[in-house]
Amino acid sequence: MNPAKRRTVIAGNWKMNFTPDEARAFIREVKPLVAGKDKCDIVFCAPYVTIASAQDEAKGSKISIGAENVHFAEKGAYTGEVSAKMLTACGVKYVIIGHSERRQYFGETDETVNARTKAALAAGMTVILCLGEVKEQRLSGITKEVVSMQTKLDLAGVSAEEMKRVIIAYEPVWAIGTGLTATPEQADETCGQIREVLAELYGTEVAESTTIQYGGSMNEKNAAELLAKPNVDGGLIGGASLVAEKFKAIVDAAQ
Ligand code: PEP
Repeated sequence: MNPAKRRTVIAGNWKMNFTPDEARAFIREVKPLVAGKDKCDIVFCAPYVTIASAQDEAKGSKISIGAENVHFAEKGAYTGEVSAKMLTACGVKYVIIGHSERRQYFGETDETVNARTKAALAAGMTVILCLGEVKEQRLSGITKEVVSMQTKLDLAGVSAEEMKRVIIAYEPVWAIGTGLTATPEQADETCGQIREVLAELYGTEVAESTTIQYGGSMNEKNAAELLAKPNVDGGLIGGASLVAEKFKAIVDAAQ
């Protein structure tokens, strides 16, 4: 983390978990545990149908409720999709885009990730843009090239001004939901490489002020070491964001 230069953001990705009542109960439990932890922003990205109850319970706390995806069109014949305008009308500010599960199971490409990113930014939202290499790419030594290419393609057409509302989540695909975590050194190195690409694209000021999270089996045990690295500005957390005490411990590690 480098709080002098950029915000630390601890975000949960609930994926396809929690009914509206369960989401409300979870926020009720976690709210007092993270109260007053002012050194980071706290976000839970929720399935669309649980957003309202989670938001209602989070009122008056420092917790923001985000979405897990957004469509690129404003409206139209896209059955099952939700637009940025719909989300902002519901008071949703944050949205995850390009999660590896969307890329792997639902055919998301850098092109659609880019289109969704631009639509969300145009609607005034803050994007948590996920990217990262698969295991074979890490093993072949091409991680830097992969994340560099993703960063460039996913952010094509995004302005320096809009970058104030972009958080990048570096998520090595081999570490998501597997219990395998990148070492703090690997996480720091790759987040640093992404920052170098941002400097190339937007200049040093934007690069230095952009929050770059690490995601991939971050938990209450490894968070402190990961967050101690200068290029790791927070976490995007799946499994451990479903357990209040674990999530609290990660937030504590960011204080
Ligand atoms: C994620 O869903 O973005 C994630 C990092 O999951 P997990 O923490 O469970 O690996």
